[in-house]
Amino acid sequence: MSVIVIGGGPAGMMAAIAAAERGKSVILIEKNERLGRKMYISGKGRCNLTNQTDIKNFLEQVVSNPKFLMSAIHRFSPAATVDFFESKGLSLKTERGGRVFPVSDKSADVIDLMVGLLKSNGVAIKTSETVKCFHYSQDKIRMVITDKGDYQADSVIIATGGVSYPKTGSTGDGYTLAKSLGHTVIEPKPALCPILLQGCYDTSGRLIDRLQQPFPEGLSLKNVEAKITVHDTVLHKEFGEMLFTDRGVSGPIVLSLSSKMNRMNFSNLVFAIDLKPALDEKTLDARILRDFEKANNKQFKNSLADLLPKSLIPYIMKLSCIDPEKPVHSINRAERKALVEILKNMKFPVKALADIEEAIVTAGGVSVKEINPATMGSKIIHNLYFAGEVLDVDALTGGYNIQIALSTGFLAGNKAE
Ligand SMILES: Cc1cc2nc3c(=O)[nH]c(=O)nc-3n(C[C@H](O)[C@H](O)[C@H](O)COP(=O)(O)OP(=O)(O)OC[C@H]3O[C@@H](n4cnc5c(N)ncnc54)[C@H](O)[C@@H]3O)c2cc1C
Repeated sequence: MSVIVIGGGPAGMMAAIAAAERGKSVILIEKNERLGRKMYISGKGRCNLTNQTDIKNFLEQVVSNPKFLMSAIHRFSPAATVDFFESKGLSLKTERGGRVFPVSDKSADVIDLMVGLLKSNGVAIKTSETVKCFHYSQDKIRMVITDKGDYQADSVIIATGGVSYPKTGSTGDGYTLAKSLGHTVIEPKPALCPILLQGCYDTSGRLIDRLQQPFPEGLSLKNVEAKITVHDTVLHKEFGEMLFTDRGVSGPIVLSLSSKMNRMNFSNLVFAIDLKPALDEKTLDARILRDFEKANNKQFKNSLADLLPKSLIPYIMKLSCIDPEKPVHSINRAERKALVEILKNMKFPVKALADIEEAIVTAGGVSVKEINPATMGSKIIHNLYFAGEVLDVDALTGGYNIQIALSTGFLAGNKAE
């Protein structure tokens, strides 16, 4: 009889280590050949495994169900994660925004350390084996059934991840397994993903679709403000870096906005960019006037080089509805106002979010209402626990999602009897 952990990502590995360190007999079942495939590609192969921040700020970065995570994050905090890895010989470093990485910049080093701990604690690791279903009676799981055999279970921890990046193994099996035991699954939605746009409105309110004016693909913008609006009411905004893709936008601030809008109705949503958030309309108008004076008799199309990245200029010209051939000295106040309007509030009607397969994390999952936050134990099945992204929790970028996996895994592994 053992604690059976299903899924060998950060949540499952941590749960198995924690249970084994308490002297439990633990079996970890992973369907891939190797453990931690998603963790391997995390942080562009560098694994941003946590964030050096306090718990209050940490929970502010959690988009879905932060309160539910309070006990888990207190019990195994970002500071505890740093301690855990460093005390076991992995040197860590903290970068911009509190992001913690291994000094080696190799996610494989984080995984190797965890696999080493699994082995030294006697965890039986079963790779290339997929959990299919359970035998259960009297509100208890008795047996875990895989494609290769059966395991008698004292308790079971489901740590199968979400449904994004399915090639890494997270294909939503945990949802099916949880549902089969009577759990509710909140509909999975893409989070931290690109936003697809229909086109852009010009200053006359006409929609220029992306076939008439393709997005300046690959162009990256720094120090801009991006907003999600409905009828000009700002719902969410972020300041920082973004980039244009062939179908819309991506990059850090876009990913954050996507997580906050994934449950919204997209029909009236507008993605708006303020290219010059540091300047109010009046100051920006004065700046443009100065640029025009400097450009003297140049045409409008040759006057914006100091103000904008080159590849954005044709786009801005078209949207401002000002004749590109017009000499700058004959551009009137109303035209300048239109130009300022586009620079401060370039509006793109939202089409959709990218597919969930492309999302960095999955929002939605096993409803936290049916889980005890102090133990990660199921309120429906006595010997069942959950950990990691399979739960209806998700956070912004910065190491928060792996920390959630580690904290909930640690708690589940400590409580599983
Ligand atoms: C490209 C990318 C970059 C990322 N970068 C970061 C980052 O830098 N920092 C950060 O905090 N987060 C990052 N994330 C998110 C983070 O990797 C995940 O939130 C985290 O891995 C979730 O951990 P988990 O253990 O819950 O699930 P997973 O890591 O998805 O692990 C679940 C495991 O369960 C296995 N499994 C599934 N079904 C079964 C079954 N039926 N039987 C047996 N095994 C099964 C899967 O094969 C998988 O190995 C990134 C995600 C992606 C896609």
